[in-house]
Amino acid sequence: MSDTRINPTIGRSPLPAEDECWTAVIKRDPGAAGEFFYSVLTTGVYCRPGCSARLPLRENVRFHATSADAEAAGFRPCRRCKPDEPSLTQRRSQFVEAACRLIETSETMPSLTELACEGGVSRFHFHRIFKSVTGCTPKAYAAAHRADRMRETLRDSGTITEAIYDAGFNSHSRFYAKAPEILGMSPARFRRGGEGEQIRFAVGDCSLGKILIAATEQGVCAILLGDHQESLVRDLKDRFPHANLVGGDPEFEALAAKAIGLVEAPTKAVDLPLDIRGTAFQQKIWNAIRKIPAGATTSYGQIANSVGSPGAARAIAGACAANPLAVAVPCHRVVRGDGSLSGYRWDVERKRALLQREAASRGS
Ligand SMILES: [Zn+2]
Repeated sequence: MSDTRINPTIGRSPLPAEDECWTAVIKRDPGAAGEFFYSVLTTGVYCRPGCSARLPLRENVRFHATSADAEAAGFRPCRRCKPDEPSLTQRRSQFVEAACRLIETSETMPSLTELACEGGVSRFHFHRIFKSVTGCTPKAYAAAHRADRMRETLRDSGTITEAIYDAGFNSHSRFYAKAPEILGMSPARFRRGGEGEQIRFAVGDCSLGKILIAATEQGVCAILLGDHQESLVRDLKDRFPHANLVGGDPEFEALAAKAIGLVEAPTKAVDLPLDIRGTAFQQKIWNAIRKIPAGATTSYGQIANSVGSPGAARAIAGACAANPLAVAVPCHRVVRGDGSLSGYRWDVERKRALLQREAASRGS
């Protein structure tokens, strides 16, 4: 499973179901570009989904996993969508990869104009592309990278970038194999919502009501709190719409018990493997939140400063709301600047209860 997770190589995945392919063709879904190609028997031409050419009749359409397959079947590339050349998505990924490399290797942060120039686009366009591929702004990426570099240098083992370069991280494919480590997880995979993955889960009772615990092979990927089993399961399905959700087995129950233990006694150290899914920016924030000790609170503004994005308090609140791991990522310890509780994804009363519990056990 970890293979599929770290290897989102474009064009290598098996052909999606024909119905799905056809739906993407009808919708001219540009997001499906790279997933498959379609050919038209009557014209002898093949296209990528999203092509603006006139829609063919379903009966004349065939699907291919790669452009090479389509050509081997005797079709020639469409002149409009140029399916034999790198797709827009691939070109953007390459462009963003180059920008990341430039940011990492520059002593000072290159200007947006400089970065955009490499790809021949405007500053604004560049900003948008970068964000859509990495999930964070170039500035946040640079700040995150600088923080990593500093931490690693202090630990004397050289920088992450050096380590990656040492490991032969020079080719495009290597970058993508490493991307989940650098970017948190592949943005494409994140959007696909756990496709092809098996997620085990269980719903139980705790002192805060119903609790749902879900885990991948890597670790716990969701801890959700609520009043009703059905709404918790629905929330899990919304977060991982394409994963194969299965009920927990006895081995899983032990993990679930640990997670419940964490909720009941947040000040106790629990060895709980986590599989934290989010964009690079969200992961930065959640990592910062995990450093808040039990019994303490921090403001949204302080978290924003600690991740090198002062003024991003609103984005911090957004990341808290998107947190999939109640208590394990203790977003309940993040409060307003004036100390008031503000909101909580799982009901502000639960936030209050958690904070009271932590304060009490710290005092004891
Ligand atoms: Zn075309």
